[in-house]
Amino acid sequence: MSTHLHPPQHEGMNEHFDPTDPRIDIARHRVIDRVLRSRMFQFFLILPNQIIFWVVMATGVLGAALPTRNFASVITWYIWFCVVFLLMVGVGRGWCVMCPFGGLAEWVQRLSFWKRRPVSLSLGWKWPKQLARWGLLPSVWVFIALTWFEEYFNIAGPGAPAYTTYLVIFIIAFALLTFLLFERRTFCRYLCPLTALIGSVGATGGVAGFRTRDRNRCLTCPTKDCMRGSEAGYGCPWYEWPGSASSNLTCGLCAECYKNCPYDNIGLYVQPPLTSVVATVNRRVDVAWGILLLLGLVLFQQLNALPIYSTVDDWLNRVTQFPGYPNPIDYLIIIVAVALVVAGVIWALIKVFSPTPVSVALTPTAKAGKGLTAFAGLAYTVAPVMASDYLARQLPKFWNHALRIVPAISNPLGLGWNLFGTAHSSLYSVHLLSPSGVVNSQLIVVGIGTLASLYSALKVIGRDFDAKGGRLGLLYVVWAVGLAAIGGSMMVLYVFMNGAQ
Ligand code: SF4
Ligand code: SF4
Ligand code: SF4
Repeated sequence: MSTHLHPPQHEGMNEHFDPTDPRIDIARHRVIDRVLRSRMFQFFLILPNQIIFWVVMATGVLGAALPTRNFASVITWYIWFCVVFLLMVGVGRGWCVMCPFGGLAEWVQRLSFWKRRPVSLSLGWKWPKQLARWGLLPSVWVFIALTWFEEYFNIAGPGAPAYTTYLVIFIIAFALLTFLLFERRTFCRYLCPLTALIGSVGATGGVAGFRTRDRNRCLTCPTKDCMRGSEAGYGCPWYEWPGSASSNLTCGLCAECYKNCPYDNIGLYVQPPLTSVVATVNRRVDVAWGILLLLGLVLFQQLNALPIYSTVDDWLNRVTQFPGYPNPIDYLIIIVAVALVVAGVIWALIKVFSPTPVSVALTPTAKAGKGLTAFAGLAYTVAPVMASDYLARQLPKFWNHALRIVPAISNPLGLGWNLFGTAHSSLYSVHLLSPSGVVNSQLIVVGIGTLASLYSALKVIGRDFDAKGGRLGLLYVVWAVGLAAIGGSMMVLYVFMNGAQ
């Protein structure tokens, strides 16, 4: 591995450079370079997950009726969800490069597992500009809607295993349809229920994604093969141009651009954690709102474990004659209220302190004003604590039941098999942590997330804002209290929840 330094900035090209550009290019390593150049690189990452998900779909409907013994329920809700959140926090779109949903749909769209073929099954429609303006927000609402269905049918409880199968089939069908109608990975860029979550949580991670090694070369590049494609590979499936990428938000790590660039001008960069949270350019307002709404959703999932919530929800269900938990009205009100309260605090701070953003932010399609830029900058600092809460929420299931995979794997179809001799393993009842250990692990994770948010705020406010009269220090203190209040509320709720799943 060697370190690659970007060339000095050229006058008039400052927008193409950023102090947070990553410097460490791991693709300089010979073995990594060979792996990334292989056309089979992504195929072999997707294949194991593809096999597991087909087994999940089959065992969900054919396997043991008891969810705690069903392979589909056990691997999906006790293990997979927790591992995916860990991947998001650490590697950003590390899950996307091996994802079976997008992977399967892309194979069908390209009529190929890995070879570059000129044909495509897709109608190749473009995502409408009016919708593109909303950026990742459609994905946020798809995730909120899907989570409501998950709560209503108790799918991740886990409830009846067949519901896990139906959920996976729905996501695959949704992906397949979008891939067949729209060009490239429109589904991943705008619609996938996980893409906004992965994109915003992934900002905390240490993988910057594929970036250009010398941006000046890109400015004069006659081919732009990284975007358009060549005989060596497909054009960027995520419509990303590595020459201007400044965060890991929309790089699916597929390495097509790496194979395409005729000048060997693409690297795979790592960066210190939180770099994409505090990056000074391309701060997006849609992502900012996404972070706040996703915060509302995860706080809802904590609040709903408290007795007071079921009292309110039961009452609302009686009044509206809605059949069961959660009533969509209180569900939406809580999510939107949390987002609006945090947004309101940020707006109030902007009004009082009038911080002027030093950098320019872009929405997906248009330049944002200074107010929105300042709003997005502060909202991004909520991402680490929000991310930590999603991870902490998965921990009770993982610590208490992850070992149930050992018996479940021996009897995947519920036919009384004992394939690996572990069907009656006592590990079924083993908890990896004591009840107090589970709560402590949640408090530690949220504590780290809160500290990461406080650090991000220090960087963003200190470096990216300008305020007359030296009031940035006071702005930081007030906003730090706000972030600490968010993290503190999560921790108090975890203590009250006492390890509830
Ligand atoms: S955006 Fe969604 S469908 Fe696409 S690769 Fe990522 S998780 Fe999979
Ligand atoms: S093909 Fe290479 S040099 Fe050309 S724009 Fe893309 S990354 Fe830059
Ligand atoms: S920038 Fe490169 S690695 Fe990232 S999604 Fe596009 S083609 Fe794939």
